[in-house]
Amino acid sequence: PLAFSFDKKPWTGDNTPAPYAFLAHALVTLCETRSRIAIINTLTNTLRTLLRYHIPSLAPALYLLSNSLSPPYYPIELGIGGSIISKAIQHVSGLSSTALKRLYNSCGDVGDVAFEAKSNVRTLVPHPPLLISGVFKSLLDIAHAKGQGATKQKQGIVEKLLVAAKGEEARFLVRTLSMNLRVGAVRTSILTALARAMVLTRPSSLLVSESDDSPYFAGPRLVTSVKPDSNEKKKIHDPSRDEILKKFANAEVLVKKVFVQHPNYDHIVAGLLECGLERLPERVPLTVGIPLLPTLGSPTRSLNEIYELLGDLPFTAEFKYDGQRAQIHAWRLENESVSVRNFSRHLENMTEKYPDVVLLVEHLFKRSPELQSFIIDSEIVAIDPNDGSMRSFQELSNRARKDVKIQDVKVSVCVYAFDLMYLNGEVLLAYPFRQRRALLRSHFAPMVSENTGAARLHHVESCESETGRDSIDEFWMRAVESRCEGLMIKLLDSGDVQEASRSEKDKNRRKPLPATYEPDKRTCAWLKLKKDYVMGIGDSLDLVPVGAWFGNGRKAGWWSPILLAVRNSSDGKLAAVCKCMSGFSDAFYKEITAKYAADSENCSKQPRWECITGGFKPDVYFRPHEVWEIRGADITLSPVSSAALGLISSARGLSLRFPRFIKVREDKKLEDASTSEFLAGLHVNQQSKGEKMAEQDGDD
Ligand code: ATP
Repeated sequence: PLAFSFDKKPWTGDNTPAPYAFLAHALVTLCETRSRIAIINTLTNTLRTLLRYHIPSLAPALYLLSNSLSPPYYPIELGIGGSIISKAIQHVSGLSSTALKRLYNSCGDVGDVAFEAKSNVRTLVPHPPLLISGVFKSLLDIAHAKGQGATKQKQGIVEKLLVAAKGEEARFLVRTLSMNLRVGAVRTSILTALARAMVLTRPSSLLVSESDDSPYFAGPRLVTSVKPDSNEKKKIHDPSRDEILKKFANAEVLVKKVFVQHPNYDHIVAGLLECGLERLPERVPLTVGIPLLPTLGSPTRSLNEIYELLGDLPFTAEFKYDGQRAQIHAWRLENESVSVRNFSRHLENMTEKYPDVVLLVEHLFKRSPELQSFIIDSEIVAIDPNDGSMRSFQELSNRARKDVKIQDVKVSVCVYAFDLMYLNGEVLLAYPFRQRRALLRSHFAPMVSENTGAARLHHVESCESETGRDSIDEFWMRAVESRCEGLMIKLLDSGDVQEASRSEKDKNRRKPLPATYEPDKRTCAWLKLKKDYVMGIGDSLDLVPVGAWFGNGRKAGWWSPILLAVRNSSDGKLAAVCKCMSGFSDAFYKEITAKYAADSENCSKQPRWECITGGFKPDVYFRPHEVWEIRGADITLSPVSSAALGLISSARGLSLRFPRFIKVREDKKLEDASTSEFLAGLHVNQQSKGEKMAEQDGDD
């Protein structure tokens, strides 16, 4: 249980800045539960209290709750390592380094260490309370400290914060500083809570009178949970409650829809305060220059499965190129020059990495005077500069990332454009894919520059289901023989498909499947069929290395096997899933043995970093900080694994058989690692596949 001590003088609201203790209290409550309802209630009450009593704290609180300092496309990194935090804890608590090490070994979490270390410190002069906005500003100051003396400056700010932190504040401050907040509040919960807070509480800036007529109004109390009504029946028939629930549902859809098209908390908060919920989409629209979250593909295992899923609906099969996803934004400026932004799958701005793509886009605008602005979805692939043939993903990853000058570009690329979301001021998301693709093809003809080495533009190679099954089969074989990863199957027009259901009653139920561009969604309108799927499990997994054993024989002196983990989306915790010892080159073994050197800040004999290891007992534990792509033969129930425990079986977790390392996913962060739920989904797919095959065998 986590202790919590309030400041002696509680916050009374009334437009005085919100104390950080208020947020820390919410974080304590969030940490104590895994219930989604409790998480959303806590977040809702926290946000509505800020809405009502101190609006300037709202956006900083949203960033602090999501453990970020800025939108993903404008990353602000704290740039502090573990040693700055450790030194600060030591200075502030006066503990010796041995005592601190002992604390680390017993707590395992740096935030818990800070809490324990500070609990014995008595300050004679009371410090003014930390404020939400003040803490956020200090974090920005840490991030912006650059050049000579920056480390000292950062250390100074961290110490100042720690000196002023009381009770739980120290724990969450340090977890925030080490970018590992460990609360189960994921982005969707935060957005749900923001929507509900707006339904329940009119922001003070929008208030006409001082009274708040919402029956659910909560004042600036530091109580953050909503007690369930004991009389459930009464609740169901309570019309005002039903009305509120309907308003919640509408508001949640609206806020999430706005966020996935314009992921910026500052803009959304400003929009909500200026115009309220209803007019938020007009006020914060899809904007050229600000990336939207991309549509995602659902894994499938065979062409048969695709035909079964889509029925008679027309689709197109496209080559699935092995490169880097690029969302390209461009618009003409008043002086006829052109502004270009190029965003990655995770919305990082990678314009600088591809100056050749910027040049390509500028040529596009020169070639087409009618072109004013666009947003294109595409895959950038390394190519042979002479004949344009595709090269490997490895070659693309050899390109430098920052400050790339056009004359230094060694690896030529082709932009394979596959979707168009915005054209000349018009948002195209609601158009069916057939129409978006027609616009893409007519406005962006392929472009191959005369200059060797310049970037090229192509449409993706594709084949329509209307041309018959044989030609799709043939196209698949071409993809298998090429350098592609497989196929992407995309619905051309919206339609209805049969609901996936095992019950007889629901077997003929149909559900709509839109062919519109759906940001951040994984639906059957976009299916991926990878070459390896056909053999192995439905998809590769993105796993986190969390531990290892001492290698034997040829591998003596290296870490082998490596323990890998999935992430629970409910609470963000890692859970070990399998040991991996195949797919690694000797050079890679050496690299990871150096990266996770024994007793370094990345490797410890004690379980220092939170991970549910179940029955796995590795010799050492790794600091979880990277993601590896892993393929496997199949997923089995396992008595030692605690990954997905309770999702398929209450006694056994899931494990991956014959895991094979593919590559380091440098573009993925821990929160992008495959989840237990995803693993369980693959297991379910695999089982139903097996059953179907058995049924077919029986028919024969
Ligand atoms: P996901 O993006 O689905 O979370 P992931 O990053 O592991 O998973 P993959 O499973 O390899 O990616 O498949 C999706 C990716 O395939 C897209 O994000 C895109 O980069 C790439 N891709 C290549 N060709 C195409 C295409 N024709 N249409 C759409 N995506 C394509």
